[in-house]
Amino acid sequence: MRESSPIIEGLSDRLQAVREAVARAARQAGRPPDDIRIIAVSKTVPAEAIRAAHAAGQTDFGESYAQEAAAKMDALADLPLTWHFIGPLQSNKTRLVAERFDWVHSVDRARIAERLAAQRPEGLPPLQVCLQVNVSGETTKSGVGPDELAALAGVVSRLDRLRLRGLMAIPEPTDDVSLQHRRFATVRGLAERLRAGGVPVDTLSMGMSDDLASAVAEGATLVRVGRAIFGARPPAA
Ligand SMILES: *Cc1c(COP(=O)(O)O)cnc(C)c1O
Repeated sequence: MRESSPIIEGLSDRLQAVREAVARAARQAGRPPDDIRIIAVSKTVPAEAIRAAHAAGQTDFGESYAQEAAAKMDALADLPLTWHFIGPLQSNKTRLVAERFDWVHSVDRARIAERLAAQRPEGLPPLQVCLQVNVSGETTKSGVGPDELAALAGVVSRLDRLRLRGLMAIPEPTDDVSLQHRRFATVRGLAERLRAGGVPVDTLSMGMSDDLASAVAEGATLVRVGRAIFGARPPAA
């Protein structure tokens, strides 16, 4: 392990600071801090930094690019890690996700869900699924619209190689804290509506480095944190 790597230097301190920020937000919301799991978003981050994060107590990792992730999984096969796919999901990438990941957060159409179900290997537990919802209207394109959510949840619930767990959202970035709260409250309301309709979802995947306190206040159970743990990423190619 290269102790001098800038990603690894200070990593356990940054991880601890994120844990404290999540715990503080939870206490302020009157929630048990243990109800919120931190996913360290390790896209573009080398395997040795993931290994260092694991040594500092982190077990859940989020990746956006299936092939990049698979190479790191191979390098880290000796560690008991939980892998979350959080990136945009094209049809030609579903097999790798179905075969290698534990969770997928970005299912937003039936065709993708059906492919994941067909491709999930029999020897593995069901793939844990969150449906990505678009709560920012026209400003973002990915995610199922709130009006189509119940139908998609119905499809996913009937696929037995998938286990529907909840909702994921990526609201538009904003410094406006009250807008952050409104967006995350919308996600919470959509999950409540699903539960009222008999779909037993227990997971809200929402909140990133810059808005995790608002997300925790509105009920997040999984927060996806990249830069606050690993530092700034190189600009996307
Ligand atoms: C990159 C990414 C994150 C992490 O974002 P940070 O701002 O680095 O915390 C979270 N969720 C998704 C879907 C991402 O693509």
